[in-house]
Amino acid sequence: MPDTVLNSLTAVNLLDKLEKGAISSGAILEDLKSRIADKDGKVKAYVRLGPQIDGVSLGVQDSQLKGIPVSVKDNICTDGFNTECCSSILSGFTPPYDATVIKKLKKSGAFILALKTNMDEFAFGSSTENSCFGPTHNPWDLDCVTGGSSGGSAAAVAADEAIFALGSDTGGSIRQPAAFCGVVGMKPTYGRVSRYGLIAFASSLDQIGPFTKDIADCALVMNIISGHDEMDSTSANIEVPDYTESLGKDIKGLRIGIPKEYFIDGMDPQVKLAVENAIQRLRSLGAVCSEVSLPHTKYAVPVYYIVATAEASSNLARFDGVQYGLRAKEPSGLIDMYCKTRGQGFGEEAKRRIILGTFVLSHGYYDAYYLRALKVRTLIRRDFDKVFKDFDCIVTPTSPTPAFKIGEKSSDPLKMYLSDIYTISANLAGIPALSMPCGFTKCGLPVGLQLLGKAFDEKMILRIAHAYEQSEGWRKIKPKL
Ligand code: GLN
Repeated sequence: MPDTVLNSLTAVNLLDKLEKGAISSGAILEDLKSRIADKDGKVKAYVRLGPQIDGVSLGVQDSQLKGIPVSVKDNICTDGFNTECCSSILSGFTPPYDATVIKKLKKSGAFILALKTNMDEFAFGSSTENSCFGPTHNPWDLDCVTGGSSGGSAAAVAADEAIFALGSDTGGSIRQPAAFCGVVGMKPTYGRVSRYGLIAFASSLDQIGPFTKDIADCALVMNIISGHDEMDSTSANIEVPDYTESLGKDIKGLRIGIPKEYFIDGMDPQVKLAVENAIQRLRSLGAVCSEVSLPHTKYAVPVYYIVATAEASSNLARFDGVQYGLRAKEPSGLIDMYCKTRGQGFGEEAKRRIILGTFVLSHGYYDAYYLRALKVRTLIRRDFDKVFKDFDCIVTPTSPTPAFKIGEKSSDPLKMYLSDIYTISANLAGIPALSMPCGFTKCGLPVGLQLLGKAFDEKMILRIAHAYEQSEGWRKIKPKL
């Protein structure tokens, strides 16, 4: 096989070739670098791209991912490499330590690319347009957004500019861009993967997860990044199963719930059709699919935008020009330095969220907004608990529409917030969820199918996802770049 196509292979395929001695890890890296050099001018999946594409590996350790390059979102700390959350306020910030997921990947022999992937500033957004570096372009249609906030990671995997990538998901930031870019993206259960070294957006919602070209790679990466971590007090001390064991099993008799609240007016008819066809396919594979109700779904978006902004306003208080990144020049005093630094360093969406979050936490409004939102969050969680008593998995569309045009929603925050209507509930409930390709629109844009599972039952999601994937050929269709 000529080296030029190595970048299009999955980690599992590449590991097999490495094992047989058919290729070298150096060849994979060289091939990936030339792909990035060739295509990233159009896609802009990576930020701070210089002539040198560097990276780091610890060499052979336990070798599960020996020699496989991984691309990392700009909000996950990488020792010695810039980690700026695509925000001017963090410009020049280089963490002195690795996030736990990075440590684990290095230990497994993976090669960490020094290049980071583009994202909405501090992960605030659904389109990767809120990046101080400008938007990433969707590899399927360069005029369209990639989704967000982990749009760079999704686009890199879709464009074969990455073998696999890491992103973070607070309200859909892995699943929605995975859907828009036609790749697999998983948000693990809250507590399954350590958040240590992930620059916090909303600490009770954030999770790190993988973007991969297929389900087998997703299971492999989940095996490596999952597990308890003393450095993250919210990480769960629950045994990690071998996720690859869920691959290749049939799904006969499994019970799949289809929530009626997710098939709403305003949903794109082509998305609806693709998802209905996927449900039909799951039925033909032996799953028992029936309608269920998640009655509090309509509150998910408002609850999320109270809880997430409240937490964000508190988490972002540390960026004040003293310890990290930018410091405004020639302030007249300390307060002026804080004001100028934050005024110059944060983008419009970050400012909007800090103001909203501060408001809902403020005296007089705390009970009316924040406390009430927490109560409704519990109701949303209970909806899932109830359904999961009788069902193994829930299947929905990932997003009501396919990728939209760059600029189409950027002046209307409410419209933008509504693109997360199907993904947010999983974060509020803390349950695992995955997006995978389930077809294309007439214009050739990918459509995503979302699978949601019980807390810590990623295995079930992966089992159903793998069975569906193997019965269809979507993953074999690649964007023409
Ligand atoms: N799009 C959502 C938001 O803007 C979710 C972002 C995320 O998951 N980080 O908050």
